[in-house]
Amino acid sequence: QAAEHSQAVVIGTGYGAAVTALRLGAAGVPTVMLEMGQSWTKPGEDGTIFSDMLTPDRRSTWFKDRTEMPLASFLWMDVANRDIEPYAGVLDRVHHGDMSVYVGRGVGGGSLVNGAMAVTPKRWYFEEILPEVNADEMYGRFFPLANSMLGTNHIDPEWFERSRSYQFARVSRAAAEKAGYKTNFVPSVYDFEYMRREEDELVPRSALAAEVIYGNNHGKRSLDKSYLAAALGTGNVTIETLSEVRDIAQQQDGSYALSVKRIDEFGNVLGIRQLTTQHLFLGAGSLGSTELLVRARDTGKLPNLGEAIGQGWGNNGNVMLGRANLPQDLVGPLESGMPAMGIDNWDDPANPVFAEIAPVPAGLETWASLYLAITRNPERGSFRYDPGADRAVLQWREEQGQPSIDAAKQLFDRINSVNGTSYRYDLFGDARAFENRFTYHPLGGLVLGEATDLYGRVKGYDNLYVTDGSLIPGSTGVNPFVTITALAERNIAKVLAEDIPKN
Ligand code: FAD
Repeated sequence: QAAEHSQAVVIGTGYGAAVTALRLGAAGVPTVMLEMGQSWTKPGEDGTIFSDMLTPDRRSTWFKDRTEMPLASFLWMDVANRDIEPYAGVLDRVHHGDMSVYVGRGVGGGSLVNGAMAVTPKRWYFEEILPEVNADEMYGRFFPLANSMLGTNHIDPEWFERSRSYQFARVSRAAAEKAGYKTNFVPSVYDFEYMRREEDELVPRSALAAEVIYGNNHGKRSLDKSYLAAALGTGNVTIETLSEVRDIAQQQDGSYALSVKRIDEFGNVLGIRQLTTQHLFLGAGSLGSTELLVRARDTGKLPNLGEAIGQGWGNNGNVMLGRANLPQDLVGPLESGMPAMGIDNWDDPANPVFAEIAPVPAGLETWASLYLAITRNPERGSFRYDPGADRAVLQWREEQGQPSIDAAKQLFDRINSVNGTSYRYDLFGDARAFENRFTYHPLGGLVLGEATDLYGRVKGYDNLYVTDGSLIPGSTGVNPFVTITALAERNIAKVLAEDIPKN
């Protein structure tokens, strides 16, 4: 069977990929996007597209027979997880020894499952992690462009103060401020006006109905509603789903040949498709894009790839923890699934921590305050190719997470001592207070300026580009999708101007 050809191919449909496809399509370049997950547009038997967190079904999880929630237990009881039928569900937890990584699967990538927090990093920190990127241009042009395209909006502070669904955040704010820490509202791509109507029971509930990590049926401006809708609207972009790129090779004329495994939603293999392209853009996320290039280098298909491929991976210093609230500090049974506030101690040179005040939308009083802390952990992991499994395996030891625990502990020990509270030890399946065996924020593996030039062009090859979170060197100091989006906008503007011939 002859290979099909497309001028440009974008692998994945997350943030970096979606930006790239829109800009290619708008410039008149015929572009095929290849996504291993499903398109989440068809309602299931219950009339909804996604399942919630309290009663997850097969749609929740990527090919597992049991769900794998971040909060493994409550009062040490295994109440969070459910047995399910293996299926091409929306959230994957990819295991790599001591670290497992949560990623979204489907058209929209992580935007389908994430907490919608749209945070622009502190400029001084951005300049530190990516010193060769022009910060004036980023903060003057590309961050504002990314936020406007993503539909970032801000909570009405007056509503926040009286909303039942943010009582949990007000309780956490009071405890942090008593200890002398500053809190900030965080912008979001969840529509706060919609949420307000949810609370007033005027519209179907989503954030207020325990929907987040398995997808939101309403309210969220995920990429399928923003960048990807615009990309399809150019008429030059098509999206092929349930199509996983397995191998990349270069042909004699310099174009790229891809092997694409096609499956149905139950995992049955339908065939291997061959596709060729002039310009290949990797947007499969930190794990996905890094694996593709590590595999291509170590199987000899792209032998000019260098040592920097697979290096510089970090978890954005993620660590999760819970505090036990005082008995009188009720948070109530209704918690918005979308965080709207963080404890911002990032400017403290001795102990920078940005802790998102996270919900526990369990539908009952939990007496718990939950946090996802982002810390400045200098530890980095790397990927090694395992030929037996044909997989790139992350090298990361549990001890490498210790600096994150130390930083979070310093901040929350103080909050606990000032407030007379303690940690929760019942949330992570055993008696630990700090969970650092998973991350929501995989970053790096194909670091800008090391594995690629300063615009994401892979070193050693022409017309091969990286667009996603793998460019960022392990840390952004805040939740990463705005940074990934803005950097992708900057890079594709340069590539379109210099590398792609005008039709
Ligand atoms: P991704 O969004 O990961 O997209 C990659 C896509 O490529 C996926 O759809 C994947 O299925 C596909 N793919 C992978 N390999 C292949 C292949 N070989 N062939 C074809 N397709 C492939 N960030 C924030 O900024 N704010 C938040 O509030 C926030 N909350 C989060 C909550 C959760 C539960 C999770 C999991 C993440 C959260 N994040 C948040 C992180 C954010 O979603 C990611 O940083 C972001 O999605 C990464 O974007 P990306 O472009 O690098 O790739």
